[in-house]
Amino acid sequence: MSMETFADIATRLCTACGMCCDGTMFQIVKMQPGDHPSELARLGMRIRHSHKESEYHMEQPCPALKGLRCTIYEKRPARCRLFHCQQLRLLETGGTTEEDAAALINKTRAQAAHVRELIEQCGLREDGQPLPERFERVMSTPVDEKLEPELAALREDLDNAMSGLRLALNREFRPPPLSE
Ligand code: SF4
Ligand code: SF4
Repeated sequence: MSMETFADIATRLCTACGMCCDGTMFQIVKMQPGDHPSELARLGMRIRHSHKESEYHMEQPCPALKGLRCTIYEKRPARCRLFHCQQLRLLETGGTTEEDAAALINKTRAQAAHVRELIEQCGLREDGQPLPERFERVMSTPVDEKLEPELAALREDLDNAMSGLRLALNREFRPPPLSE
């Protein structure tokens, strides 16, 4: 019988995913009491002040994510330590299997890759910003369907692809909002 723990399986799934660290799901990670923003900044994280006074957050995509692994694992902020997406929650309670979760991760990562590809085709090169921001930037520039029919068609594809991705992330990955 396998002696694998939930943590072993979660690590295997997360290191094939990274969507909660790479700017696909989140734009920022809020600092919590006990986190060390200045130490995280020294480690290369992009720490910023939030609009509200004395609140710090870490911008995503996270520079610590390399090859789908967190390279500051021992020093990662509280929200990273506590975060379990819906797939991990389901796995922990027996509501899904590793195989099913892995298949969903692959499918959703492919959707996100397709969105990134379409964003580039629409003329916005990779700029290290979170995916939703990049999408909004592309969609906010006007396009004349008659003058630029190909671009207009690409935009429509992008809009549909992003809707599909958002639906998948909301339905399968994003947990209910954290209370403040
Ligand atoms: S979205 Fe879920 S499976 Fe993917 S890296 Fe984050 S916690 Fe792991
Ligand atoms: S610190 Fe680690 S766990 Fe947190 S967002 Fe960055 S890569 Fe992900």
